[in-house]
Parts: sequence; structure tokens; C-alpha cells
Amino acid sequence: KSILEILDHVPWFDSNMLNTARWLSDYYLCSLSEAMRLFIPGQSGIKTQKAYQAPASVDFEQAAVLLSKKPAEFRTLLTYIYEHGPVTLTDLAKLTSDPAAMIKFFLQHKLIISADIVSKRGKASVTTIIDLAVSRETAAQIEQTLPKNKAAQRRLLNALLAAPGNLTTAQLRSLSITQDTVKKLAEQGLITTRQLPLFRNSYAGGCLQTPAVNLTPEQAYALGLIIPAINTGLHTSFLVHGVTGSGKTLVYIRAVAEARRLNRQAIVLVPEIALTSQIVARFKAAFGEDVVVMHSKLSVGERHDAWRRLQAGQAGIVIGARSALFAPAGQLGLIIIDEEHEFTYKQEETPRYHAREVALARARLAGAVVVLGSATPAVETYYKARQGDHVFIPMNQRVDNTPMPEVTVVDMRQELAQGRRSVISQALKDMLTEILARQEQAVILLNRRGYSTFVLCRECGHVLKCPHCDIALVYHASATVLRCHYCRERHTVPDICPVCSSRYIRYFGAGTQKVEEALAAAFPAARIIRMDQDTTGGKMAHDKILSAFAAGTYDILLGTQMVAKGHDIPNVTAVGIISADTALNLPDFRAAEKTFALLTQAAGRAGRGKKSGRVVMQTYNPEHYAIIAGAGHNYQAFYQHEITFRRQLHYPPYANLVKITVHGADEITVHRNANQLAADLTQAPGLADAAVIGPFPASVNKIKDIFRVNILIKTQELPTVAKQLAGLGLASRRDIIVDIDPINV
Ligand code: ADP
Ligand code: ZN
Ligand code: ZN
Repeated sequence: KSILEILDHVPWFDSNMLNTARWLSDYYLCSLSEAMRLFIPGQSGIKTQKAYQAPASVDFEQAAVLLSKKPAEFRTLLTYIYEHGPVTLTDLAKLTSDPAAMIKFFLQHKLIISADIVSKRGKASVTTIIDLAVSRETAAQIEQTLPKNKAAQRRLLNALLAAPGNLTTAQLRSLSITQDTVKKLAEQGLITTRQLPLFRNSYAGGCLQTPAVNLTPEQAYALGLIIPAINTGLHTSFLVHGVTGSGKTLVYIRAVAEARRLNRQAIVLVPEIALTSQIVARFKAAFGEDVVVMHSKLSVGERHDAWRRLQAGQAGIVIGARSALFAPAGQLGLIIIDEEHEFTYKQEETPRYHAREVALARARLAGAVVVLGSATPAVETYYKARQGDHVFIPMNQRVDNTPMPEVTVVDMRQELAQGRRSVISQALKDMLTEILARQEQAVILLNRRGYSTFVLCRECGHVLKCPHCDIALVYHASATVLRCHYCRERHTVPDICPVCSSRYIRYFGAGTQKVEEALAAAFPAARIIRMDQDTTGGKMAHDKILSAFAAGTYDILLGTQMVAKGHDIPNVTAVGIISADTALNLPDFRAAEKTFALLTQAAGRAGRGKKSGRVVMQTYNPEHYAIIAGAGHNYQAFYQHEITFRRQLHYPPYANLVKITVHGADEITVHRNANQLAADLTQAPGLADAAVIGPFPASVNKIKDIFRVNILIKTQELPTVAKQLAGLGLASRRDIIVDIDPINV
């Protein structure tokens, strides 16, 4: 295709970015262009727009004949396209009310052709700088001799003489000097204009002041290992296994400071930027403008600016969610992954990469250090550290030796046996009464996954499901509607069962709204704030809720997973977990790991300041090892149990999994194709040592009317299997998704 415009005067990709993209495409079986797209700013890589322009050769006579029968506007528009092309529909809409019809006519008669251009929104905005082109003396002389009616030109010259010799367009505007005046002086050779990229920064301000602190012995030990590694300029990786409140953030900050001292850049990944404004604030306080923050709510332009500052070496530190990993940091020296066990590090669309694996690959190629941090490392990561793949750094003490919170496990079956039916147990109620009396704060976690409020007919057992998604509809009391959480469709609540016409329709489960009602009834004076998907729609809504809670505007913060993570609020002394075990029964081999991590993180919110903390965990499974270990803050006990089970069943880390999903609108075709594929895979020579399991329907076997069937491969020879799958052309089939190291199986 012909070149329309040159966007970058320096190549965007350096060899490290290119080689990381190659690694990604080999490992995750995506195309190189899909992998490269990740390195280009903009939510999903380059955004293109349709635009129109003149064809290579234009037959003006034929055009004139065709247009003679059309309104005059047609001719005007066509001339405009020929003169300005490529022109987008949005551009044309400014000229006429119905450009679409005209475009259709032009295309039909081959008077124009369409082209994809890079969306204009993706480009950096620029500012114009006006410089004096002559000496100050000459300028002053000319200013004196200008006739009276050239007042604007005099003003501009005066302003330039007063300024350090140049001005920006914004300054011109405030002096009410027009472009016309600039042009006139430029024509006389008195001034020149040049363009500079303008960088937007939506995270400006909001800095915390961090007092100088003495490192704890464990922080000093960690940095004693990490800092020399950064100095060698060779790739090394660390796992910092630090209990909640052990001061991992300060270790990250000092490590980054060392990389910066050596003039190398750092990427800091956090699971979800909206929940981690405290980390951002600490980095900003330490490094100021050297930090750029990436998050999904940045506009494409802001993202583009941030990346250009990194590429130009004007910033040295990027903090963001997984996509920040692809920042153009040409001097990369350090990658930090905080809460490395979080599943948000896995991208659930092609390329289905895991940020931890990509970070290790990119750092290997760049000679950079990787620091993985967590209170509950992923079983795979911990296993690797024990094998010596990562240097292991334990941090077992909280800062100031604050004790870990004391945990009470409440068996909800006992509660029921004693005639207490409330979702809030006696122990939880007692704890809340005590801490509220002391004006302390509490966090209440409702682990909603698999426990939302669904609607069931008591007569025939029918559960109301989404007609498109094969999943139970969720009841939202605030709007009295049923909603599908997969396709977001709304349904009204029926009066009678659609199957048996019975009137005995009941709502089950404990949604956050239901728990909120129960809390409000038990503690009428308490100020309660709820944080879940329903309340966190707007920009930075999480942040607002968390800061209001941190500021003491509320007594109780209630919500799903998101209340369990990251924040450090000294006045929170109590944590209540409504249903510790709801995720345990999910058909997922990581169910115990997810439960343990969530319980540990949630408990870790309590007692982080000088006051000690307490936790009440309500469960129907008090004997389960994930609950026992979670209550005892005992990662080792959990790991020993879990790793034995993984070894026995050949799950990761003892094997790699590959999930192949066959999907389509026709259920029968999907099943036939999946059966055929499973048979082919079983016979494939490269898969002789691998186990092919399935096909079996996906756990939600239909989403938005598309049926999905899975095949699972377990292998100890992933590269061989990947080569075989690539050979079968699976990566390019549109009805197949290949997911290497899937998170949801
Ligand atoms: P983690 O990320 O390990 O849960 P944080 O990094 O949030 O822990 O640290 C917990 C608290 O301890 C924070 O309020 C932090 O400012 C404070 N802190 C960290 N290191 C020190 C230190 N060396 N001296 C005093 N306070 C510290
Ligand atoms: Zn649906
Ligand atoms: Zn019924």
C-alpha cells in the first residue's frame, strides 16, 4: 500500500521489543502482528478509521457526466475529497448533513476509493513554539519603527522581548494575538515557529510525603540481594514472599531508585490500577515527574504521550496494569510485579499472555532484574523459587512487629443449629459492636463468585437463566430487575414460574445488597458504604469510595473481592468474611488457591497500624485446608497440601495445560468439530506424551448465543505440543481459541 503519512521519525520498536514480541508469538501461538500490537499505545493497539480519497487515475469527464444529474452539493464534496483526501466520514459530516449517501454513490461509480488510516485520535497533540529569529536589539529597533496600525505585531514582538525569547501558542492566546499576526511577522523573517509534542498528564498532583524511614531488618536483607543484582546488568529474578504489611512497597521503591541511579528504566506492574492509588502516590512522592501512570481510563492521546516520554527518556518509571509491560522502555533495568499471584495478569483475549511470563522473557532479553512480590505467591511461582529459578526472599514480620490479626472461624452450620439464621453470625456481630464503640473501622467481604442472588422456583426447582448464556440471572434489588452478568441483558422478574406456573418464586444467595440490609438492621447508627460492580461504574469510583472510607467518612466498607486488596488504612481493625468458602466448590483446580489467597489478603487489611486487628471468617467448610491455612496465616501449610494434590493429578507446576475452545452458533457443528479435533490431537505424533482430555462443554456452555466446547491438553513438553498445534493451523482457525497456560479451565 502507498504511504499516507509518516507517524514516527524514530522506529517505534527497538530490538528488545521486537524480540519479546517474537517470543510471545512463539509461546502463545499468536501471529507476530498480534504480539506487536501489544507494544503500540491505544487500548487495543492501532485504531484505524475508514477514509476516502481519489483513485489512482480519475476520469474527470465521466465524473462530470455522472454528477450532472445530481445536486450541486455532490460536485462540491467530490472536489473536497480530491483536494484533501484521505477524508473521513466525520470530516465530511461537517460539510453536509448526509455524507453517507453521497459516499455510497461515489464508491459505486468508482469515483473514490476507501482506505484505512490510523485514527487521528492516536496521535500526540503538539504545541507551537514561536522564537525570535533576529537578535533582541534588531527586534527592539523594528518594534520602534512599526507604524501605529500594526499594534498586534508590536504586542507580539514586545511579548517575545519580555519572555526568554520564545512563546507557546497558549501564551499567545492569553495575549489575544492571532495566528495571522504570527504569520505576518514570520513572512518578514522576524520570527520562526516550530512544533513540540505536548504531553498530557492526568495523574498530576496527589503526592504523599513519605518521611525518611529506617529499613526493617527484612527490608534491608531483601535490598542487600536485589541492589547488587541490578548493578550487574544481568538478568536475575526474585520472589519476595512478604506477609501483608511487611513493607514490600518500600523494597520496590528502593530497588527502583537503584535502577534510576544507574540510568535504567523500571516497569512496575500492579493488578488493577484503580485499586492501587496508594502505591502510585508513594512512587510519585519518591520520584515525582519521573513516574508515568498507565491505566485503562487514560485517553488514547494521554497513553501515547506517556509512552513517548518513556521512549524519549524523559520519564524513567512506568506504573500500570499488565499492559504497562509493553512500554517502550529502551533502557529497561527492572520489572516489579506486585501481587504476582493475581489473575488479572492473564489477558483473556488473544494474545492470551500472562504478564509474569512475558516480564521474565522481556527481562531476560534486556538483561533486567525481575522482582515478584506477594503474600500468597502463585503455587507455580513458589515451586519455581524452591527449584532455584527465582531467588527466594522471605519477609515474615509486619513493620513495627505488629502481630498478624487474630482469626475466629465460625461454622455456619452450628449457627443454624442454634437457631440463628442471619447472614451475620453472633461472633461477627459482637466484633463489630466492639470496634464501632471504639470508633474503629471494619471491612466486610462477601465473596460473591458463585453466590449471587439467583431466582428459583420452589415448586419445580427451575432456576431463571439467561436465554442467551446458560447462566443464572442475578437479582438486583435496587432496580428490581434480573440481569445476566455475561451479556448484561435485563429481564423483569416474573410473577409465576415460566415452567410450572407456580407462584412460589424465591430469591436465594446473599448479594451485597442483602448483606447491606442485614448490617443496617443490626447497626442502625453505622455509616456503611458498599463497593461492588454496581457502585463502581464511573471514572475512579473505587478510588473515591476508598478515600472516603480512609478519611473516616464511613464506619464499614462492604463489598466483593475488590475490598480485600491493596489498601493500607490504619484505623481498620476488623475484617468480616461473610462466606469464606463460596469459591471452593467451583469446578476449577485452582479453587483452593483462589480461596486461600483471598482470605489471606482480606485478613491482611486488619490491624496494619498501631492497633491490632481481628478477623471473623464464616464458613460451611471449617475443615478445609484452604480455610484452616487461611485462618492461621500459614502459607507453608497451604502449599504443602496443594502441591501434593497438584503432583498426584499432574496439574501445573508439574505439567503445562493448553485449553482449546471450539465455538460457534450451531451446537451440533461445534460438537462435531470438537470431536474431530480431539480425535486428530490424540493421534498427532507430537502429542504422544501428552494427555488429551475432552471434549467437554465449557462451564458456561453458551454465552451470547455462542456455544463453547473445550479440549484440555496436559503436557510436560509444551514447546513440542505448541509446534504441533501451530502445524495443525489451529492458531488461524476462527472457530478455535488456543489458550496456553489457561487460568480458567
Ligand atoms: P505490604 O505491601 O507488604 O503489605 P506496605 O508496603 O503497604 O506493606 O507497608 C505497610 C505499612 O508500613 C505502610 O504504611 C508503610 O508506609 C509502612 N512501612 C513500610 N516500611 C517501613 C519502615 N521501614 N519503617 C516504618 N514504616 C514502614
Ligand atoms: Zn446473557
Ligand atoms: Zn416452577
